[in-house]
Amino acid sequence: DARATIIDGKAFAAGLVDRVTAASARLEAAHGVKPGLAVVIVGEDPASQIYVRNKGETTARAGMRSDTHRLPDTTSQAELMALIATLNADAGIHGILVQLPLPAQIDSSAVLDAIDPDKDVDGFHVVNAGRLAVGLPGLVPCTPLGSTMLLKDRLGDLSGLNAVIVGRSNIVGKPMAQLLLAENCTVTVAHSRSRDLPAICRAADILVAAVGRPEMIKGDWIKPGATVIDVGINRVPSADPVKAAEGKTRVVGDVAFKEAAEIAGAITPVPGGVGPMTIACLLANTYTAACRAAGVEPER
Ligand code: NDP
Repeated sequence: DARATIIDGKAFAAGLVDRVTAASARLEAAHGVKPGLAVVIVGEDPASQIYVRNKGETTARAGMRSDTHRLPDTTSQAELMALIATLNADAGIHGILVQLPLPAQIDSSAVLDAIDPDKDVDGFHVVNAGRLAVGLPGLVPCTPLGSTMLLKDRLGDLSGLNAVIVGRSNIVGKPMAQLLLAENCTVTVAHSRSRDLPAICRAADILVAAVGRPEMIKGDWIKPGATVIDVGINRVPSADPVKAAEGKTRVVGDVAFKEAAEIAGAITPVPGGVGPMTIACLLANTYTAACRAAGVEPER
């Protein structure tokens, strides 16, 4: 009896990957430029290994150059900085992504800021954060970029809508706020110190949850008909107690999906909502960076 439309991020992401694949092929045919992405991983974190493998495979399938640099978890700051410098200077590489988290001996922000901002396809460099804030072309973090695409696909013009973003991280909440402000939404950013979060959420035509707390946002926090974007990826014990006792897990979002889907107008599922958009936007950013390096206007 769910009344909300389920936003199919997986299907939208597949379409985006197809469009970027075709545009990249045209860029290569017309200008001899094959977009190239270098992914750097330090250490053996199992989740990071899976993310990096997926990124590499998706990039290669899109017809782009895909290089993965696997470094031991004993890598020093200087060694990693030397690799970044090499990649910055490599004209065949248009995007550089350093998988987080990095081991404790490495200063992550120093590494991210060593990446050439024009190759910073994660959009985490302070220069890209600044460009986004002042409305200059740059590279935009993938998760908020993909979330905004889903909102525009669903709602068209976002002008004048009340948008509430729960979460103020540099990689999701803050850039999401900038993007929705640029779309002429009235933006509220809520966080752990916000007072009466349910009331703030109830004012939202667009509610973006980027908290990292399983099913924290309840159905009765949602304005009837609102569009809900659930960025959260939280691993919790399986709903089946027998499987849970065996250590089986499942992934849920930051929104209590079942109850929210009875009140919202549209909602992204977890998994299958925002997650697939993130990797599709990584390809889109790599393509955009390659176009700019070649002095070519990217296709939209
Ligand atoms: P962070 O932990 O960096 O930020 C979480 C934010 O939520 C903080 O601003 C924090 O507030 C706020 N918060 C925490 N608890 C509460 C609370 N009880 N009430 C209100 N606000 C609260 O997380 P990220 O932004 O990196 O990620 C958020 C979620 O999105 C995670 O589940 C993550 O796994 C997921 N994610 C998904 C991606 C995807 O591809 N779909 C990509 C990136 C992240 P304060 O600042 O006050 O501490």
